[in-house]
Amino acid sequence: FGTDRATSGRPTSPIDSKPSPTHVIQPGKKVVVGLSIDTLLEERWQKDRDLFKAAVEKLGAEIEVQAANGDDALQLAQAENLISRGVDVLVVVPHNAEVSSAIVEKAHQSGIKVISYDRLIVNSDVDLYISFDNEKAGELQAKAIVSKAPKGNYVLIEGADTDNNAHMFKKGQMNILKPLVEKGDINIVFDQATKEWKPVNAMANMELALKANHNQVDAVVAANDATAGGVIQALAAQKMAGLIPVSGQDAELAAAQRIVEGTQTMTVYKPIKKLAETAAELAVKMAKGENVHADKTVNNKKIDVPSILLDPIAVDKSNIDTTIIADGFHLRADVYKNV
Ligand code: BGC
Repeated sequence: FGTDRATSGRPTSPIDSKPSPTHVIQPGKKVVVGLSIDTLLEERWQKDRDLFKAAVEKLGAEIEVQAANGDDALQLAQAENLISRGVDVLVVVPHNAEVSSAIVEKAHQSGIKVISYDRLIVNSDVDLYISFDNEKAGELQAKAIVSKAPKGNYVLIEGADTDNNAHMFKKGQMNILKPLVEKGDINIVFDQATKEWKPVNAMANMELALKANHNQVDAVVAANDATAGGVIQALAAQKMAGLIPVSGQDAELAAAQRIVEGTQTMTVYKPIKKLAETAAELAVKMAKGENVHADKTVNNKKIDVPSILLDPIAVDKSNIDTTIIADGFHLRADVYKNV
């Protein structure tokens, strides 16, 4: 899997994507942007879809959206359909980092450029990657949990193995945890991926972790808010919810509510509006055959992909008002509904 930090830290020369050799937009025709999205079953992806659509339309372009419900074959078929219907550029949130390279090949055969949105398509010639610094997101999670539980038994509830981001989050978490494990302060007693990022699978893993350790668990690093929800349900069944720190990510409304209620310690807030607007702007430029500038690269096991990585923000009870609420990401009344 690719590494977000491939070249960050040291200066990189600007990377310019080259104009498409074959795809030409007829004069007077509106740009059409295709969005192929893994799933709309999580709150964040619905926001991504809505914000991206609004941003594309604001730029005077049209948009076609297809969601694949976590089905690789369906995502490829939908992407092929978008290509054959004549989209000028394809923006993809891949379900499977490897399998989705077929989408890039198909698009390139028709001279269509592909942007990897939030998740990296690996082993492919994808044209641009726009995301957050996902390794940093993992670091923020582990740092917040370590500050609450500097010592003890740790459970890691990771994301889906098929998602490159899940590997980046874990890499960031381990940057913080490994030295503490080596010092003997932290003992990782359970470490599992969550199939399809589903809360029920995270809950089942957390139940196993608690059982195997006779509830002697001091902290949980959960990769996102969906998995944190499953973890907290399993903790609640043992009357442990709120007693040990649990991380998350996405600033979903349910997680924001759990944070103010005290059952979830933190979330990683990723301002999706910025991601969606940047992606829309660059997609339209690419569709027109204009050069697009990125200031980093991320290696995807095949090439160094020109990349733009935005900054994630750690949010807990102390700064929830000044971050996600101040940004209008959620309404204060909704977040504090149960307290
Ligand atoms: C995203 C997270 C999201 C997860 C599950 C990851 O690729 O970066 O924000 O929670 O997928 O959908």
